[in-house]
Amino acid sequence: MPDLSPVSDARKARRIYLDYHASTPCDPAVAALMRRFEAQEFANPASAHVAGQRAARSIEAAREQVAEAVGALPEEIIFSSGATESNNIAILGAATAAQERGELRRRIVTLPIEHPSVLAPCGHLAKRGYEIALCPVHRDGRLDIGALEELVDETTLLVSIQAANNEIGTIQPLREVSEIAQKHGALLHSDAAQALGKLPLDIEALGFDLLSLSAHKCYGPKGIGALWLRGGPRGAPVAPLCFGGGHEQGLRPGTPNAAAIVGFGEAARLAAERQPNDAQRLSALRDRFEALLLGKLGGITRNGALDNRLPGASSLTFEGVDADALIANLPEFDLSTASACHSGTPEPSHVLRALGLTQAQAYSTLRIAFGRPTTEEEVDRAVNHICDAVAHLRYNSSN
Ligand code: PMP
Repeated sequence: MPDLSPVSDARKARRIYLDYHASTPCDPAVAALMRRFEAQEFANPASAHVAGQRAARSIEAAREQVAEAVGALPEEIIFSSGATESNNIAILGAATAAQERGELRRRIVTLPIEHPSVLAPCGHLAKRGYEIALCPVHRDGRLDIGALEELVDETTLLVSIQAANNEIGTIQPLREVSEIAQKHGALLHSDAAQALGKLPLDIEALGFDLLSLSAHKCYGPKGIGALWLRGGPRGAPVAPLCFGGGHEQGLRPGTPNAAAIVGFGEAARLAAERQPNDAQRLSALRDRFEALLLGKLGGITRNGALDNRLPGASSLTFEGVDADALIANLPEFDLSTASACHSGTPEPSHVLRALGLTQAQAYSTLRIAFGRPTTEEEVDRAVNHICDAVAHLRYNSSN
């Protein structure tokens, strides 16, 4: 049984969630729509009867919403269980399709700061004879474009570059990446899990071939995402990894989670609609947070590309402070040190290490992300509590 014991209003009011890049709460309108859908529609969308076809039409309407949110055609969108699965289908599926057509290109170029759901399938392919080239990044997380130009050549099958980083918020120069990949005829994939709703996304203009999306990063439900393929699965050189009933144009078989898809559709529509306002409001909150904090405390370094960051992102290294101890001293806050997929492991963040931070600096880093529900009052409380906790820890360690 899940723990659904009621959280008192007083406790709720005291807790401050600052980890919106790990996940976002489902928008109330999205959650209400999903509940209504779930109560009413249970038929299998693959069934030919009236109830099944009604569910199928709802899925197609959601597909149109997701497509419109990123400037794509509905038939180019395949629903998956999230960005992890989309990244795996894109990378492993591109390699499988290449092998099937006797392709000689064996190099895959990606970044050392990619999410594990990109790096791990690349590692899997390395064991099968693919050459994985990691393009270095600068101290601010932006890829070294000169190095990318050197790494991408006629042997390159796939270039996979994230749109924006979940830990430090750095946004990559996707258009320049796309020019380089196109020049050499390499396929281009982007993990855009952190982009939808945070950045303007027009994939047609970007010149990519494959793009991964996730609903729970943009106020939709968990366990649902999408892969966009230029020209749709039949046009794109990506082979299926699973086989079954031919759902999602044969690329991702299995009875679709219709309620989650409907929720994702609405969340994507809202994300695109609200993106300019959300971005402006969250940048202002983040800037206020950093200005107040840096004004009160010394020994803080900001990580990431300061002029090219996700609007709500703030990655801060607190000199001489253990980030886990800092979090333990901030019991009212939901905060993370590295990516959520890593917490619990003793390894420092691979993202921070790739930027050139020392192990000690990586262990002293908090990853903060503000989201739609964040208020100015929460920001100010966070500043005051962090200042007190850092001062306390520094005092203790110097005595
Ligand atoms: N890529 C990035 C950049 C992410 O931030 C995440 C979520 N932590 C993922 C991929 C995985 O997304 P999902 O949870 O939908 O599998």
